[in-house]
Amino acid sequence: MNPEMKPPVTDMPAEEFRRHGHRLVDWIADYLQHSERYPVVAQVKPGDIRKALPRQAPEQPEDLTVALDDFERVILPGVTHWNHPRFLAYFAITGSGPGILGDLLGGALNVNAMVWKTGPAATELEEVVVGWLRQMLGLPEEFFGIIMDTASVSTLCALHAARERLGLSVREKGMGAGPRICVYCSDQAHSSVEKACITLGIGQEGVRAIAHDAEYRMDPTALEAAIQDDVRNGLRPCAVVATLGTTSSGSVDPVKEIAEIAARHALWLHVDAAYAGPAAILPEKRALFSGWERADSVVLNPHKWLFTPFDFSAFYTRDPQTLRAAFSLVPPVYLTTKEGDQVHNYMEYGIQLGRRFRALKLWFVLRYFGQEGVRQALRYHIELAQQFAALVDADPDWERMAPVHFSLVCFRARPRGVPEDRLDDLNAALLEDINASGQAFLSQTKLRGNLTIRLAIGHLRTSSQDLTAVWELLREGAARIVAR
Ligand SMILES: *Cc1c(COP(=O)(O)O)cnc(C)c1O
Repeated sequence: MNPEMKPPVTDMPAEEFRRHGHRLVDWIADYLQHSERYPVVAQVKPGDIRKALPRQAPEQPEDLTVALDDFERVILPGVTHWNHPRFLAYFAITGSGPGILGDLLGGALNVNAMVWKTGPAATELEEVVVGWLRQMLGLPEEFFGIIMDTASVSTLCALHAARERLGLSVREKGMGAGPRICVYCSDQAHSSVEKACITLGIGQEGVRAIAHDAEYRMDPTALEAAIQDDVRNGLRPCAVVATLGTTSSGSVDPVKEIAEIAARHALWLHVDAAYAGPAAILPEKRALFSGWERADSVVLNPHKWLFTPFDFSAFYTRDPQTLRAAFSLVPPVYLTTKEGDQVHNYMEYGIQLGRRFRALKLWFVLRYFGQEGVRQALRYHIELAQQFAALVDADPDWERMAPVHFSLVCFRARPRGVPEDRLDDLNAALLEDINASGQAFLSQTKLRGNLTIRLAIGHLRTSSQDLTAVWELLREGAARIVAR
C-alpha cells in the first residue's frame, strides 16, 4: 500500500453536517408546526417538477445550501401535504416528531438487520417493540411479530405461508403441480389481496370475492357456500382474509364466525386490519376485533394510525414455523451464523434480505406518548368522526352512507330537489372543487353504486375547528353547485 494515497473524496465534515443538519431540523420544526400554510393538494400539473430540474446530475460538487434552497423553491410546491391537518383523504399516514427523529437515527446508523449478527440491537428492539404493540392490542402471547414495509407485503407473505402449509410442494416444484388453490375475501377487501394472489401465481381466478351484507361485512353463509362449492369442484381452499376496517367504508367483517369456518375447513385465517388495527388498543373497541385472536396471521399499519412515519407495517403470526419454512433457505456461507436458535434472523421470515432499523421509530413514538397518550389520541379521532357524522345526520341535505366504527366517515350531499340520477355528478364536482381549493383533501368511494365522500381522520394536529371548517366548505360548495 502506498502510504501517500489519500482518499480523493471524504464524507461531509462534522462541522458542515452540523450546520446543514441544524438548518434542516429548524425547517422541519417550522413545517410541522405550520403545515396548514401550504395547500393540502399540490397545485402542480404533471411534468412541472421534472421540467424545473436539470437533465443531468451536476458534474462538480455543489454546496448543500443550494440544494436545500432548491428543495424549498422547486420540490415543495409539488408536495401533497400528508402532514396537513385537513388531509382527510385515503387513510392519513400519520407521522409525529418522535417518529421522525427515530427515522433520522435509523438512517444515521444505517444498520442492515438481515441476521441477528448484523444488527443485534435492531433485531432485539424489533422483538421488543412488536411485543409491546402485541400486548397493547390484546393479541395472545404466541403471536410472533415482524416489521414489514407495507400491509401489501405482509399479506403477500401471509398467503405464501398459507399455501406452504397445504403441503403441495409449490415451493419446490412451482405452480405446475397440484390442484388449483382458492383464497377467500369479501368483495370489500383491499386490492392487495388480489395483487398478492396475482404475484403468487394463484391468479385472479383463484380469488373468491364473497358478498357483503347491508353494513358491508362479509357474509359468512356465502363464504361457507363458496368453500363447499370449490371443494365439490376439486379445487383446494387455502386461506380466508377477513378485513377489520375496510378501506372503502371502515366496515368490520364478522371475524368470529369467519374463524369458525376457517377452522372447520383447515384454512389459514389472515386478518387485514391495516388501518383500524390500532383501535384494538382501546378497551371499548376491542369487541369489534373479537375472534381475531384465532387468526393465523394479522397485519396492521402503525404508519396509518399510530403516529409512525411511513413505512411501518406490523405483521403477526401464530405459526412462525410455517412462515419460516416458506421463506428460509440454507444461507449462503457468508450469511451463516453460529447463534442458532437463540436468535431470530429476520431475513428467514420474509422476502427481503436487507432490512432497515424501523423499530426505532415506533419505540420513540410509544415512549414519547406512552400507552395513555396513544389511547387518548385514538379516542379523540374517533370522537371527532362521531361528531362529524352527527353533523351529517342532522342535515336533511346530506346522507351518511356507512356506520362509523373508527375515524372514517362516509357520506354524500343529497340536496332536496336534486334528482337521484344527478347526485353522483354533484358529489364528484363538489370533491373536485374542494380538493382544487387547497383547503382540504377528501377522497371517494362507491357504496351501493353511489359516489360517496370519505373523510378519514388520523392526524395528531387535526382539530374540531378543522372539521367545522371542512363541513362549512362542503355545505357552501354543494349550495354553489346546486345554484349553477
Ligand atoms: C391501506 C390498506 C392496505 C394497504 O396498505 P399498504 O401498507 O399501503 O400496502 C391494505 N388493507 C387495508 C384494509 C388498507 O386500508
